[in-house]
Amino acid sequence: MRRPALPIVSDEESRAYATCSACPSLCRSVCPVAEIEARETSAPQRLMSLAGLLQKGMVSAAEVGDIPYHCTSCGACEEACLHDNQVALWMLRTRNRLFENGRVPNAVAEAAACFGVAGNQYGKSGEPALVKALEDAGVQLRRSGVDVYLAGCESLHDAPKVVTSLFRVLNKMTSIDLTVTRASALCCGAPLAWAGEHTGFVSHARRFASAFGETKRVIAHDPACAHTLRTLYPHFGVDFQPEVWTLYGFIGEQIWDSSLSSSLSRSALGPNSGRDNLVFEPCHLVRTFGERDRTRALLDQVLGDDWGLFHHNGVNDCCGAAGLLPLSAPETAWELAHQKVAAFVETGARSLIALSPRCSTHLRRAAPALRIRDLVEVVLEDYT
Ligand code: SF4
Ligand code: SF4
Repeated sequence: MRRPALPIVSDEESRAYATCSACPSLCRSVCPVAEIEARETSAPQRLMSLAGLLQKGMVSAAEVGDIPYHCTSCGACEEACLHDNQVALWMLRTRNRLFENGRVPNAVAEAAACFGVAGNQYGKSGEPALVKALEDAGVQLRRSGVDVYLAGCESLHDAPKVVTSLFRVLNKMTSIDLTVTRASALCCGAPLAWAGEHTGFVSHARRFASAFGETKRVIAHDPACAHTLRTLYPHFGVDFQPEVWTLYGFIGEQIWDSSLSSSLSRSALGPNSGRDNLVFEPCHLVRTFGERDRTRALLDQVLGDDWGLFHHNGVNDCCGAAGLLPLSAPETAWELAHQKVAAFVETGARSLIALSPRCSTHLRRAAPALRIRDLVEVVLEDYT
């Protein structure tokens, strides 16, 4: 059944703001943005308080300013919240109020406007980059398929070699048939949702959904795309029929062999465990999906014991790549990446593996000389 689009004002939203106003800010210490900016203004409780005032018309959009854009949609606060408050979702609702009042950071408004040109935030189609990446791997586009790959516009714009690496690896794994169609180059519309341009997001999302008519499963390389399809589409009343998987959850599922899996022992090693390969698990993989065990089992099967988890400040907090933070608060986004990279260097590990092209690209920009790669690049370069 199609759910109604996110309503203008809902009891659920009002309740969320009310619970935050009476809470001792249990989530404060886990918010990467508030920590890095070292100020209360961008702490989740303050964001929610300001959002509640805007919802009630007690402050104007001009008075709120760009503060609701100081959030990566990472979900860490929601994990810490005893009331299950969906802070990231309510920030999107708040951004929509700002968007409708023309109070959007310039770079965010420009990214949203690019959708009118090419259906993504970059203003040019990702299809040529996809076709070239496939040619380099010796793979052809098909008209349709059961399991269809979604590259993610970030991958195609900034890291098309990751797509080539994936299909070179899959060429050797004959048990997995992942189809690439023209729809594989489309954007799911996440940047529009993050920008607060929700009328445009819903129209875009419906067009995107219609491009996957015959597909049974969509396999998203970028967990942020998977999160958008699985979580934001229903919130906004967009019907999306295929099952949605993250790439590594899907591959882990295909080669799953519980008798071989030692993922629990790997987790028990603890983070930054002195292994050569440290794995950075993206927020949208960790907090949205039940595929973490499959992904860890995949890591066990391809890397053996040669990996451990990477944590920073005792948690796997956000690298700053999502939620349009690199556009709305670039200094914060880069500082988050720089701190992760510095923490990685301190571990003495040889390579940092990010399970998302969005995260690996963002982290690599902070330290181009370091070995920061997507898992498929590691498999191709070091294990085949
Ligand atoms: S999100 Fe939850 S933990 Fe954080 S301030 Fe609100 S009610 Fe408290
Ligand atoms: S979703 Fe992440 S960045 Fe946004 S308020 Fe919560 S912890 Fe902070």
